[in-house]
Amino acid sequence: MTSVSRQPALLIDSFNRLHNYLRISLTERCNLRCQYCMPEKGIDLSPANHILTTNEILRLVRIFTLYGGVNKIRLTGGEPTIRKDLIDIIRGIRAYPTMKTIGITTNGVLLHRFLEPLAEAGLNSLNISLDTLIKEKFEFLARRAAFTRVITNIRLALDMPKLYPLVKINCVVMQGINTDELNDFIELTRDQPNLAVRFIEYMPFSDNKWNEKKYFPYEAMLKIIKQKYNLEKLPPNDKNDTTKWYRVNENSYQGKVGFITSMSEHFCSTCNRVRITADGQLKVCLFDNKEMSLRDALRSGATDEEIYSLIQRTLYKKEKEHLPMNDLATSENRPMILIGG
Ligand code: SAM
Ligand code: SF4
Repeated sequence: MTSVSRQPALLIDSFNRLHNYLRISLTERCNLRCQYCMPEKGIDLSPANHILTTNEILRLVRIFTLYGGVNKIRLTGGEPTIRKDLIDIIRGIRAYPTMKTIGITTNGVLLHRFLEPLAEAGLNSLNISLDTLIKEKFEFLARRAAFTRVITNIRLALDMPKLYPLVKINCVVMQGINTDELNDFIELTRDQPNLAVRFIEYMPFSDNKWNEKKYFPYEAMLKIIKQKYNLEKLPPNDKNDTTKWYRVNENSYQGKVGFITSMSEHFCSTCNRVRITADGQLKVCLFDNKEMSLRDALRSGATDEEIYSLIQRTLYKKEKEHLPMNDLATSENRPMILIGG
């Protein structure tokens, strides 16, 4: 399968943005119920036969990689670790010699079972979500009692620097909920060179309890942190990096601190991402409700060339940038749990 040699006709949209990063949601299911992601009333799960199979996912990976030149893939969800074929999918992705990064974004609840097999299969980027260091608050936010398990698993991952040279913690910052913990998160970067803590601005999605009063922008986070720490700005990892990087300018703070400013300073002009939902919809922007069913194309017997052409045509319609935050809050979109971040 991987021996096909062809010159990729790259994934470029009408604003000349090159897309080499694919995010694949593996499941709509989750073992947590985070308030900012999962609607309180729950979600209507798609019928099981609407969810992409292992072979369908790997066929799309093949098309995006060999035809489109994708060299970075992140697996997400729902919670990707509850999908039984996770390791097989990672092995299948790793078979492409041009693939640089295979990442996963996980809530960490089941990571103790997967840390070694994931790395063996070829995973080389691990993001774990954690919004609070307080057990009761975790249970309020995630609506499930899994705090101790998550903290233990983060510690396990950090203690495997050979397998995981950099573990990233993703923390969604919400005014009045966890803004009092920003500096406690910064403290985690002390004596921890293989840790990056990233603060993410709270984004509005369907039924996710977002409102302007809970939104807490990057500049406000910086203001709090700078009252206590001397922050040194670091260069971006590459031209598509969505994180603004810093470190505490003191020898003992060896980890990194990042900010993802999707709302206050978006990065649409350098966007290199496309997404596939668990039910096989191509989404060219996190905030654009328009979708194209790659699942239907796959199941209609279309050839790889035909599917790739469909992907290119859909990408070409990608908007220049997403709507302003307050318009997003009132526009139709899937809940985050059905997109994958
Ligand atoms: N279950 C996995 C997890 O929680 O890491 C993967 C899926 S989750 C949808 C992916 C990422 O999106 C997580 O880091 C989560 O914190 C983030 N996220 C979810 N809802 C968000 C929101 N409203 N604003 C900002 N980030 C959000
Ligand atoms: Fe589940 Fe992740 Fe959404 Fe939380 S953020 S409900 S862990 S998918």
